[in-house]
Amino acid sequence: MPDSQKYVYSFGGGKAEGKADMKALLGGKGANLAEMSVIGIPVPPGFTITTEVCADYYASGKTLPESVRPQVEAAIRQMEAEFGSKLGDPANPLLVSVRSGAAMSMPGMMNTILNLGLSDVAVEGLARKTGNPRFAYDGYRRLIDMFGSVVMGVEHEAFEHQLESLKTQRNVKLDTELGGDDLKELVQRYKAVYKAHVKADFPQDPVEQMWAAVMAVFNSWEGKKAIEYRRIERITGLKGTAVNVQAMVFGNMGENSGTGVAFTRDPNTGEDVFYGDYLINAQGEDVVAGIRTPEPISRLQQDMPKVYDELMAIRQKLESHYKEMQDIEFTVQEGTLYMLQTRTGKRTGTSAVRIAVEMVKAKMIDKDTAIKRVAPESLNHLFMKQIEPKARSANRVVATGISASPGAAVGRVVLTAEAAVEQAAADPTTPLMLVRKETSPEDVAGMHLAVGILTSTGGKASHAAVVARGWGKPCVVGCEDVRINDAAGTITVRGQVVKAGEFLTIDGTTGEVWAVPLPTTDPVIPEEYFELMEWADKVRTLKVRTNADAPKDARKAREFGAEGIGLCRTEHMFFGEDRILPMRKMILADGGDEPASEKDLPAAEKDRKRHERATAARKAALGVLEPFQKADFVGIFEAMDGLPVTIRLLDPPLHEFLPHDEKGQAEVARSLGVPVEKVKHRVEELHEFNPMLGFRGCRLPIVFPEIGDMQVRAIIEAAVEVKQMGKSVLPEIMIPLVGTVEELVLLKKRTIAVAEEVMAMAGTSVEYLIGTMIEVPRAALVADQIAKEAQFFSFGTNDLTQLTFGYSRDDIKGFLPTYLKEKILAVDPFQSLDVNGVGQLIEMGVQKGRSARQASAGEHLKVGICGEHGGDPDSVAFCHKVGMDYVSCSPFRVPIARLAAAQAALADGQTTARDR
Ligand code: PEP
Ligand code: MG
Repeated sequence: MPDSQKYVYSFGGGKAEGKADMKALLGGKGANLAEMSVIGIPVPPGFTITTEVCADYYASGKTLPESVRPQVEAAIRQMEAEFGSKLGDPANPLLVSVRSGAAMSMPGMMNTILNLGLSDVAVEGLARKTGNPRFAYDGYRRLIDMFGSVVMGVEHEAFEHQLESLKTQRNVKLDTELGGDDLKELVQRYKAVYKAHVKADFPQDPVEQMWAAVMAVFNSWEGKKAIEYRRIERITGLKGTAVNVQAMVFGNMGENSGTGVAFTRDPNTGEDVFYGDYLINAQGEDVVAGIRTPEPISRLQQDMPKVYDELMAIRQKLESHYKEMQDIEFTVQEGTLYMLQTRTGKRTGTSAVRIAVEMVKAKMIDKDTAIKRVAPESLNHLFMKQIEPKARSANRVVATGISASPGAAVGRVVLTAEAAVEQAAADPTTPLMLVRKETSPEDVAGMHLAVGILTSTGGKASHAAVVARGWGKPCVVGCEDVRINDAAGTITVRGQVVKAGEFLTIDGTTGEVWAVPLPTTDPVIPEEYFELMEWADKVRTLKVRTNADAPKDARKAREFGAEGIGLCRTEHMFFGEDRILPMRKMILADGGDEPASEKDLPAAEKDRKRHERATAARKAALGVLEPFQKADFVGIFEAMDGLPVTIRLLDPPLHEFLPHDEKGQAEVARSLGVPVEKVKHRVEELHEFNPMLGFRGCRLPIVFPEIGDMQVRAIIEAAVEVKQMGKSVLPEIMIPLVGTVEELVLLKKRTIAVAEEVMAMAGTSVEYLIGTMIEVPRAALVADQIAKEAQFFSFGTNDLTQLTFGYSRDDIKGFLPTYLKEKILAVDPFQSLDVNGVGQLIEMGVQKGRSARQASAGEHLKVGICGEHGGDPDSVAFCHKVGMDYVSCSPFRVPIARLAAAQAALADGQTTARDR
């Protein structure tokens, strides 16, 4: 790299070398500190070491580019001049903070070191200058603790132990009861701890301290927590973290000092109110760590009216400058307000929608921007469960904390994040409620697995609150009535003991807690959601359908805006109590014992007879199933009146329906009037080594045509019936797992024959389509041949992913975590489409299919996707790009897909909300 490269950017004093749009280089924090300086917001001076230095540091085996040091030295001099004090100056020492800051926010995941610059000499200078030795020594002991633990890896508990033993000796309870001399003594003890662990004295040179801290921040980029967080949040492609070195200001200099964090609007509801917490006489970390429960920001108006007014003016200025809700940190040092950070505030889905719509109405942003602002996934939050009102009033609230992230959650108590991880691995179906005094970045994996989070300390900006809100997970913090007894594995809520493993219910919207599991109901959707979705629908070109196989789900999906059914999996219809037995009889049919009358027939004739008997038995069982199947289709067609419904013929391996347990086998044996051994034997006969690659999909009706016939008959009869009710039906019959055009040709012929027969009998006709799934890689390769026979394609990306990678979709969990950790895969390919690999097959399938259909039938081949990826925003963007007509996903993901489709359309610049 050329030595002339600029690695360090200064800010402060109303000017800066960087600006807000330089996040990739300066990280979010650095870029915004620069921007705030430039627009005249009071920011303590400092400088940012770029993310490129971090990238270089790792690329070169952990060494810094040469010209970083002189550039940092120059920036230090500039900061000293701006702030009017000097690093290490015995009379007037400058103290600095060293903080991480990547291009995307990773709250609490990397290192921060405060109060750097204090030494045996500087601490005396600070004590004299401030006239406050207690403050000076408190800062010094905090530095030794933080530097020791964060930079040098000394156990924080070793320092904490000294603090506790001094408090015992002085017979005091609170840290604040220790005086200046006590803290001076504590500094000596901390230095001894440091020396014992590090085998060297605590460094006295402030510049040496600063460099060690800078390195520690770079090292934390590849720390376990940070890696885990990036994995969960799917953060990829960043260069690394920047490092911000900034002059310290102090919120712990007495009653006219303080520190706080706030949002320019309510991040839970989106309401246009100032929202946050602060603490008088405290350092910033005290608010965020949730160690003391802070005051609501509105109280600041009484405590420090002038500061409050200034802060309100800054709130206004930041919002109108960024045109976005901001999350800010501030410190008041002896009555003077400083801003330490601003960034786009994390918010719940409900809040995101309201803020976006209200900002459009206030003419701050346009509709396109509003559509782009809401993360599709966050819409989930709007549909989160609420506690059933009757149950709410019938049950006693045992405690009330601070509402940190809305929604109701019911789960079994787990007291540590590690326990949550272990229990979820052992049994992923049990809902877990993580209950902690406070959470820290170490806990994120366990927090992610819990259905809800409850902490006994902390405010709205505590770690638990911010992280839970980001994930749309219900969370209550600062619930002081909850006392946690880790040793006993219990919590006590106002005298009532709840053991780990027992149920708690929380309402993250109100902060209430119940010590029983309460039933939950669906939420009330805010008006702004409908407005935003209306704008989104005007922009998108992709249609959104749903995967549903019951009328109830179809209706729900329609409410969510589904424009048809993209996949009705008929197999789910055979699992009902009254259906599984005839289904099993159908599968097990083998022609039974040979009748005496056939004893002397030639072998070939015997086989034919047996086959006839088996077919007859299958048909008889199918005859029982047919009315059920038809009734299901009637319900679905009615629910989807006027919208297309894609019905897929039976797909899964037959063994999925078989009784593998004694009870089930006995029941079938009884009903067939055969010994149970016979059933057992037949089940064993049907065993397959690779059922997903075995006798399934279109292979079933090819071997047993009567299965397909029954389904087609039920579909067309249902369609006729619903049409006769005066409704509009648009059935699309879909043949699964096709790999050769010959399979499709055969089944298509049979489908048409049955459909024609039903319509002739009914004396009426219905329009229907016949198409296929593209889920076997070969089908994508020969899509041109297949398209000549198909009126539509639906990409079954679950199987297509499985068969392209050769990863069993049901057994990936054995190696997926390692693959993600080793970065062999960036994401689970069954959740988000592998655009590079599977995507090529899709793109080829669409192109070949469309042109062949156009050439052979002169018509547009309708193309969609119905694998799980149809509801994943990144995959939806890909489907838009390759020109699909629709995506299909589960009902609850329909809104997500609609918004993702609109964002994809806006991203390629085809349309805007203004056009329509
Ligand atoms: C698919 O394979 O993507 C698909 C939708 O079918 P199923 O998940 O039922 O195999
Ligand atoms: Mg499939």
